[in-house]
Amino acid sequence: MTPLLLHACCAPCSLEPVRHLREEGFEPTICWTNPNIQPTDEHQRRLAELRRWCRETGIELIEAAEDYAAWERCVAPIGARRREQRCRACYALRLAEACRVAEREGFERIATTLAVSPYQWFETCNAVLEKLAGAHGLTPVIRDWRPWYPEATRRSRELGMYRQNYCGCRFSAAEAALDRARLRDERKAAHHS
Ligand code: SF4
Repeated sequence: MTPLLLHACCAPCSLEPVRHLREEGFEPTICWTNPNIQPTDEHQRRLAELRRWCRETGIELIEAAEDYAAWERCVAPIGARRREQRCRACYALRLAEACRVAEREGFERIATTLAVSPYQWFETCNAVLEKLAGAHGLTPVIRDWRPWYPEATRRSRELGMYRQNYCGCRFSAAEAALDRARLRDERKAAHHS
């Protein structure tokens, strides 16, 4: 098996990447560094679920440094209007730390679960990973796991995993709430027409 460091945003999003990477002959070690997740309770809840799943599945978990002040300084000021730019900066902050860990721990390959969800910016995320991995002398392992997102949803429900309904930051919590309200309105309108 080829060792690989897999940056993970949460347990449910790790299910399918770990399964596919193992099928390909990789042995993933998970790296957690997500200073974007707000509020603190939510951050701890996602981390606790990942710890539990890693323990039960026999996957090594590295809990890396999390620079909350850097997130507020480099990501938050981009704000709600420029969503893709904000997410790009957010990916970069987290993946830079994961690349530092990979280099320090002697990994040659790195991947991330960040683009598993179809709600994420797939191309942007991969471009950020490619650039940072190159700067650290690492090989980025980039795969499209989005077709397995429904399977990840199904399996995580089956396993009784905690599943969040927003990406992580306070902007995404508000954006997800608005999206849900819009969908509710559309369904109501369709029902009455
Ligand atoms: S929506 Fe997600 S990826 Fe984008 S800035 Fe917020 S936490 Fe980061």
